[in-house]
Amino acid sequence: MPASRSASKTVSGRTPRGATARQAGSTALRVLPQVHAVLERDELRQAAERHGRALVTGLVRERLDALRRDVRAGRTGGAAVESELAGLPAWVEREAGARTASTMRPVINATGVILHTNFGRAVLPENAVLRMTEVARAYTTLEYDLAGGQRGSRSSHLDRLFALLFPGRAFHIVNNNAAAVLLALNTFAEGREVIVSRGELVEIGGSFRIPDVMRKSGAVLREVGTTNKTRLADFERAIGPRTGLILKVHPSNYRIVGFTAQATLREVAALGRRRKIPVLMDQGSGNLLDLTRYGIRNEPSVFEALEQGADVVCFSGDKMLGGPQAGLIVGRPDLVKPMRENSLSRALRVDKVTYAALETVLLEHARGAAESRLPALRMLTMTRQAIEDRARRLIDQVAAGPGGTLSLAIVPGLSLPGGGSAPEEGLPTALVAVASGRLSARAIEKRLRAHATPVIARIEEGKVLLDLRTVLEEQEPALAGALASLA
Ligand SMILES: *Cc1c(COP(=O)(O)O)cnc(C)c1O
Repeated sequence: MPASRSASKTVSGRTPRGATARQAGSTALRVLPQVHAVLERDELRQAAERHGRALVTGLVRERLDALRRDVRAGRTGGAAVESELAGLPAWVEREAGARTASTMRPVINATGVILHTNFGRAVLPENAVLRMTEVARAYTTLEYDLAGGQRGSRSSHLDRLFALLFPGRAFHIVNNNAAAVLLALNTFAEGREVIVSRGELVEIGGSFRIPDVMRKSGAVLREVGTTNKTRLADFERAIGPRTGLILKVHPSNYRIVGFTAQATLREVAALGRRRKIPVLMDQGSGNLLDLTRYGIRNEPSVFEALEQGADVVCFSGDKMLGGPQAGLIVGRPDLVKPMRENSLSRALRVDKVTYAALETVLLEHARGAAESRLPALRMLTMTRQAIEDRARRLIDQVAAGPGGTLSLAIVPGLSLPGGGSAPEEGLPTALVAVASGRLSARAIEKRLRAHATPVIARIEEGKVLLDLRTVLEEQEPALAGALASLA
């Protein structure tokens, strides 16, 4: 390669002929060129154009400093230093590539957990992605009223859709559901009390605990009942002149089973109406469908929460709604209005890209097409038989190629909705169990994760299991490729 020959000449030009390991020490130190001199070399000039001068300069400095330390410590010298210097451009190129590569990469989620928070929850439909791109790459009418030629409102773009889905109710959009709860508490109970069942508060815990976010709202959490039992009378007794809000929370992360009792939303809502205290339902999942048809029993919809009398309901955009990260608030216009007008709303507002995605996703719901058009809901409602058919096709495809030496079998199992929805509701699925005479389960799982398109599998009872429910159809060839590469 002429380029690297000329590079090594530049370097050896400053090197006394016949420098050997014995002459290490001060000679080798003198051989080390200055950073700016190295940067003059053609290959590094080109690297700077490709990757930016700052990054390339930093890398050269880093490498020369390391070499200088090694020479001083007697770890290297003479010819070894020269060869290091000759290899510098190639090293810079490799490192610059590695250090600027995206770390947020698409993966194949073969875990069977549909709304996996680690993998970004709901996958968006292609038409939403196109709308997001369209509004991102040009100026838009985000807050502009074209007809009047004057300032408009960003939420106005969703007015007609919300009116279709939730007639007579007002809505508000914030950054996520945690923000929706924060905003509600701040609006109705800052410096006052919010009554919430101990049993329900515990259920929205987690590593970043929502109860802690709630305390930041300035509201005093008035916890009533015990972890397993809260009766209507407990709510009633807690109501006083300082009460600003009653909060009900949909049990999401786990369910307390056995000797339990919770006052129902219908009862609590009636109490709130009698005592003129707003009742907020943190519905969480944003489910708009009747999921009992699909064997998911404990996931009442947003419509049901409103029908049962909740004044305001809040939920996530990226769980069972099947859309982007957002917090959606729907309810009584006289209560949503002060939430919109709360100055916190400015800090919690979402961008045009989110509005574009929400518009597309809500339109699919309004058209009754959510189950067929939204990936998250397609996965949720996919039958076990359809998954088994896909699993067989995958196995046949891999068996026909170099992956024929792998052992692939279909075994029954359960997929999970995830994202804190319907905790104990496993969805029957057909898993592909992957085994190899050569590799352990751990090794297979690791190799799949290291593939060009990483495949995330689960290991259960020493077996690597793939659930095609959460694998996008267009990812199937890449998955087959990852399996073939194990053989
Ligand atoms: C998921 C969830 C939240 C948090 O929602 P984010 O959109 O993740 O902020 C709050 N409450 C309940 C009941 C949930 O299920």
